[in-house]
Amino acid sequence: MVSSRDLPLLRKNLLGWFRKSQRDLPWRHSKDPYRIWLSEIMLQQTRVAAVIPYYQRFLSRFPDVAALAAASAEEVLSLWSGLGYYRRARDLQRAAQQIVAEHQGIFPRTEEQVLALPGVGCYTGAAILSMAFDRPLAVVDGNVARVVARLGAIPGDLRNPTRWRHLQKSARRLLDAQSPGDWNQAMMELGAIACTPRAPQCLLCPVAKFCRARQLGLAESLPEKRPKRASVKVSLAVAVLLDPDGQTLLLPPPSSAPKQMTPGNVAALVSRMWHFPTAVVEKSPAAELHRFLTRLLPPFAKRQAFELASLPLARHAVTFREITVAPFRVALENLPHIPGARIVSLGQIAGQASLAVSNLTRKVARAAVRGTV
Ligand code: SF4
Repeated sequence: MVSSRDLPLLRKNLLGWFRKSQRDLPWRHSKDPYRIWLSEIMLQQTRVAAVIPYYQRFLSRFPDVAALAAASAEEVLSLWSGLGYYRRARDLQRAAQQIVAEHQGIFPRTEEQVLALPGVGCYTGAAILSMAFDRPLAVVDGNVARVVARLGAIPGDLRNPTRWRHLQKSARRLLDAQSPGDWNQAMMELGAIACTPRAPQCLLCPVAKFCRARQLGLAESLPEKRPKRASVKVSLAVAVLLDPDGQTLLLPPPSSAPKQMTPGNVAALVSRMWHFPTAVVEKSPAAELHRFLTRLLPPFAKRQAFELASLPLARHAVTFREITVAPFRVALENLPHIPGARIVSLGQIAGQASLAVSNLTRKVARAAVRGTV
C-alpha cells in the first residue's frame, strides 16, 4: 500500500484532479443531507445518466424530508417507477417519516442515528455524513474498493468479508480528513471514469505513480473476477384486458392484494407494484393464463367467454432472474369488477405518466398498444 511519506502528495493529486475534472452532476451543487441521501440511494445499482431525470423530478415534487414523509406511498412509487429496486423508495419514505417523528424533521448528524434509518447502511451513512457534515468517514463502494485494491495490488475476491474489511481499513488510511466529502467523491469519481473495471485509463490517472498494480503490470487483471451467480429462468404469462375505450385492468401491489390475485412467486417479479394479471407458467402459457383468469374472475368468466390474442414474447431481467414474458391481449366488451383493482387507460401505463408500475408492466403495456414487444 502507499507509504505514509507518499500519502500527502497522493491526496493532493487526487483532490486537485477531482476539483478540476469532476463531472457536473446535480447532487454536487448542494451540501443538503436530504439531497445527498436521495442521490446516494438512487445511484445504488443504477447508472448516473438514468438517475439524473428521476432525481430532478423527485426533488421538484418532494423538496425536503417533510414533503416526502407526508406523501402517499403510491405517489412516491410512481415517481420511482422505471428506476427499479423499489424497496429503495419504500425505505426512503419510511426513513423520512422516522426523521420527522424522532428528529423534528431535521436530518440526524450522528452515525448511530443515521445508521438507524431504514435503507441506510455503512456506505450510505458515511457518504451522507462526510459530504454534508464533513465527518471524517471513508466510503467503500464497488468503485472505491477497485481503486484501493489496485493501488495496493490486493488480490482475491473483493467481496470476501475479510478482504472487504481490509479494504475499508485501507480506505480509512487513505482518507483526507481535512476534506472527507470531496475525498470520497474523488475516489468514487476515479473508479467511475478512469480506474474502470475494464481498460483502466492509467495514463490519465492522477495517482498512477503510487499505484502498485500498475507498477506490477496487474492493473487490467485486478480485481479478480467474481464467479457469476447462476441465473434462474422464469416464464410469465401476462393478460392485458382491454375494453373498446382502451381501458385496462391493473391488480394492486401483491402486499396489499388478496392471495388469489397474485400467486406468491409473482410478487417479486412485478416488483410489488400495480401490475397486469400475471401467472408463472411452465409449458403452455395461453392455457395456464386462461385457467388463472378463470380462477381470478369466476363470476365474470362464467358470463363472458374470452380469448387470448398472443403478442410476441419479451425478455426481461430482474437481478439473477431471466424472465420470458408471454403477453396476451384480451379484448372485452366490459372490464370485470374486481374489488381493489384499478381501471386505467392503457396509453397512460405505456406512456411516461406517473403510475406506480414496474418496467415490466410498462413494457407489456407498450407491446399491447402497438401490437408488438
Ligand atoms: Fe487505477 Fe491505473 Fe490509476 Fe492504478 S494507475 S489507480 S490501475 S487508473
